Order: sequence, then structure tokens, then C-alpha cells
Amino acid sequence: MSRVFNFSAGPAAIPLEVLTQAQEELLDFHGTGMSVMEMSHRGKVFMEVAAEVEGDFRELLAIPANYKILFLQGGGKGEFSLVPLNLLRGRNKVDYVNTGHWSAGAIKEARKYCNVSVIASSEDKNFTYVPKQTGWKTNKDAAFRHICSNETIHGVEYFWTPTIDDDVPLVADASSHILSRPVDVSKFGCIYGGAQKNIGPSGLTFVIVREDLLGGAHPFTPSVFDYTQQAANGWMLNTPPTFAVYLAGLTFKWLKAQGGLAGIEAQNIEKAKLLYQCIDESDGFYRNQVALDDRSRMNVPFFLKNETLNAKFLDGAGAAGLAGLKGHKVIGGMRASIYNAMPLAGVMVLAEFMREFQRIHG
Ligand SMILES: *Cc1c(COP(=O)(O)O)cnc(C)c1O
Repeated sequence: MSRVFNFSAGPAAIPLEVLTQAQEELLDFHGTGMSVMEMSHRGKVFMEVAAEVEGDFRELLAIPANYKILFLQGGGKGEFSLVPLNLLRGRNKVDYVNTGHWSAGAIKEARKYCNVSVIASSEDKNFTYVPKQTGWKTNKDAAFRHICSNETIHGVEYFWTPTIDDDVPLVADASSHILSRPVDVSKFGCIYGGAQKNIGPSGLTFVIVREDLLGGAHPFTPSVFDYTQQAANGWMLNTPPTFAVYLAGLTFKWLKAQGGLAGIEAQNIEKAKLLYQCIDESDGFYRNQVALDDRSRMNVPFFLKNETLNAKFLDGAGAAGLAGLKGHKVIGGMRASIYNAMPLAGVMVLAEFMREFQRIHG
């Protein structure tokens, strides 16, 4: 067996310890004589798994008691529709900040349901920064205010939480940096995302929603996507993606063993520092264009000065056991996604490869 260092943006690397445990338990889960994915989601064994998974997620993020946790399906993009359907609560106006591809996607989808005000945008500089809150043109009568707190493609991350001085709840798409560091959940009305970046396999969607925002879903909302109905049924109104839920649970245990979110944050800071340093010290051979304060710790897009070397770079990286470095087609270049599951050793091998590539081709 030979495992590579996997820099894929999503679905992304899962900790080896997690995969190994899943492998060990695959055929006979805890003496039941069947796999965890072969049993009823309403049976005692799986109900216990589900409760523990939810409890560990709550503990890791210190989610207050007045927030519901839902594990649903539909992914991040599904939530682009489900957030307005559930949280408009009879209103017709919403605020969105546009910081890149994923916030733009959320805006496009929300426009099907209501009037969207784009209250700030970084499009003027190709989505390379987070607009300062002082310039946001907010609406006090908005049903909610939406941000994408880590732009996976543009590599831009909020390292501050917008302050809310009106009653408009803050909603965040945190798909690609959830659980990478502690966050004060009480500052948000709702946090959502797909699991396949920093939690586990695709097919699982998390929604953290403040209880007082429930109860107002649009009547056309499918029941399985109605936060209120799912909350009332312990997110088992329909069959949840049981194997993905189980695997997320293993990741949560792994995270607790890393010292929780403070522990993993320290590792993530070190990894990002090493990679950005390698880029910044390359004399322009490599470049990352994101404003220094807004550079994502999870997704590091970078470009070679000489883009005709791109294919050679990717081939060489592949030969060195470094996979998934091709940038998203929207912006091109390279991208190293260094989520929780990427060990420091992987980033060190990447930085070493980049320096050697520059020595040969620079
Ligand atoms: C990947 C991603 C999405 C889309 O997720 P899907 O599960 O593929 O729908 C949405 N938002 C962000 C920030 C993402 O990184």
C-alpha cells in the first residue's frame, strides 16, 4: 500500500487513523455481525452512534444549548436554497457579502426566492480580500445576513466575525474551514456546510441553527429539508447517510485526541505559515495574491510566474507523492488544500518539492 499526501479541495483527505478504524470495524460493527451501514438508523446501536456523533460535534465547537444540530443531505449547494427556504420566515429581503465563487453561488440561488442585496463585494480585486465591515451597506429589515467564511477556490478566509448591531441573524457557509479552529457559535444564527472538506465523506451536510429561527419555513419546503421538522425528529425524518455520519463521528474523536479545536488550530497555523513562507520567499517564482490578513489557512491557491511550467510542476509533484494540487478551473494555477487531516509532514514535503522545482526551473 502506498498513500500519497492528498491536497484535494474536496472530497478531501481523511485522517489515516480514521480510515484504519473504519476498516477494522467494517464487517462487524461492535459485535453486531454487520457493518454500521447495514443496520437500521432507528435501531438502538445506530441511535447510540448518532447521539455520540452529535454530542461530540457540540462539544468540539462548544455549541450552546439553544442551537439545534442537523445532519442532512444535499451538500453545501443544497443549502444555498434551503437557507432562504427555511430562514426567510415570511420576509422578502436578505443581505449577502460576495467574496468569491461560493458566495456568488449562494447569491444566485437565493435570488430564486427573494430580493438579495449584495451589501459588500471584493470583485473589484478579483476576490482577493474580505471587505471591511465598516463599508457594508446592511439592511435592518433583512431576514438574514450571509457570508461564506472561507472561500475554498479563492483562498480567502474571515479571521473575524462580523458584529451584528441589529436583529438580523448572521448565516455562514463554513464548508471548508469548519472545525479548523474555535469559533463563537453564539454570534451566528446559522452555520452550515458540506462534510467532504474537513469532516468526512461527501453526502453529509451539517446545519447548526439557533432555535428561535425555526418554525417559519416556506410552505413549499420539502419536509426532509425543513429544519424545524428535522429538528423535531432528531434529523431522522428520513434515512440519514448513516455511514457518513459514523465516519464523521470517528473524525470528531480523532479531533478530540488532537487537543480539540485549539490543538488543531495550532497545527493549522504552523502548516499555513510554512506554505505561505515558501511562496513569499520564492522571489515571485510562486505567488499568492490574497491580502495577507485574509489568507486562508485551509486553501492556498498559488500561481507559477511561468505558467508554461504548470504541467511539469504537477507531474513532478505527482512523482513525489503529492496529489490534488491542480487549481480550480475558475482561477487556474495551483491550490494546496491543507485541511485538518493534512499532517505537517505533508506540507514540509510540498515546500521542499517547490523549492527544488524552483532551483531547477527558476
Ligand atoms: C465545496 C463547497 C460548496 C459546495 O458543496 P457541495 O457539497 O458540493 O454542494 C459550497 N460552499 C463552499 C464554501 C464549498 O467549499
